[in-house]
Amino acid sequence: MLLKSEFQPKLIYSPEYNINFFGVEKLHPFDSCKYGRSWNELFAIYGKQLQSLHILPSRSISHHELSTVHTKSYLELLSSSRYLAQALEMPPLALCPSRLIDKHILNPMRLATMGTLIAAKSAIKNGIGINLSGGYHHASEANGEGFCIYSDIGIAIASLRMEGTIQETDQVVIIDLDAHQGNGLERIFLNDQNVKIFDVYNAEIYPNDGWAKRGIDLDIPLKSGTSDRKYIELLQEYLPSYLDSITPIRLAFYNAGTDIYCKDPLGKLDISAQGVLSRDILVFKTLLELKIPFVMVLSGGYTKDSYLLIANSIRYLIDNTSGIPAP
Ligand SMILES: [Zn+2]
Repeated sequence: MLLKSEFQPKLIYSPEYNINFFGVEKLHPFDSCKYGRSWNELFAIYGKQLQSLHILPSRSISHHELSTVHTKSYLELLSSSRYLAQALEMPPLALCPSRLIDKHILNPMRLATMGTLIAAKSAIKNGIGINLSGGYHHASEANGEGFCIYSDIGIAIASLRMEGTIQETDQVVIIDLDAHQGNGLERIFLNDQNVKIFDVYNAEIYPNDGWAKRGIDLDIPLKSGTSDRKYIELLQEYLPSYLDSITPIRLAFYNAGTDIYCKDPLGKLDISAQGVLSRDILVFKTLLELKIPFVMVLSGGYTKDSYLLIANSIRYLIDNTSGIPAP
């Protein structure tokens, strides 16, 4: 058992996170309905008890909140279908009216960005906030790429600081274990001494962003084909001691991309389903033992099994912290 009562998870999810746009979502390997599939899997396990943990975002993130991180010219650029087609990696979208892209793809992302902010507020209040989406770690102030348009974590940090929930001097850590380097966040926080980034990623795939690497505080680049044993050993060697060296940490964001999974077509690592679960348990236990409030976001994961990996890890967290009896 972990730390019941001190850390109560909240699960932030809306059915509107899922992107269904006349089949256009199939243009990208991303399973744009994995959020709903993860929710359904958890609901099948816990039934109505899951509602006691659930928060439904009541609105999308506002233009004002977006502008705490993103430049005016970038936000204006998001009305260009051609730009969006490139950032979302779906070339045919260039021919689509931008208002339709906004309604069917960007608005679900703005709702999920709000979800990350709500998760962050829940983490400050209850210890754990899980957003069943988000983790758009390639988006920076004036650039969208790699299916990431809005920097949900960047906006959450900026919003919490603006409203005074956290102070500029509070230490915030981003643990980015998605298979891809989190270059957007690294660019945003390059000169911010109080936001630290721990990044473990496959250095042989996109984005290979040398400039952004300067924003990583603990950098663990991996080779394609890295196995469970090597991956978990590295994480065990570096994560607990790194977090323990920063005190106190006000809030951690865990970018829990499941594209490290061996069947993932984009991540190109060799981590088994058990390895993904072991990674997540190691992160959860470390954060709970150090009593660090944390947000979990889903980030990448591009296989038909991704939702099951996500649900397995969240199940572990709920069973060990929520007080809901394990089914
Ligand atoms: Zn990724």
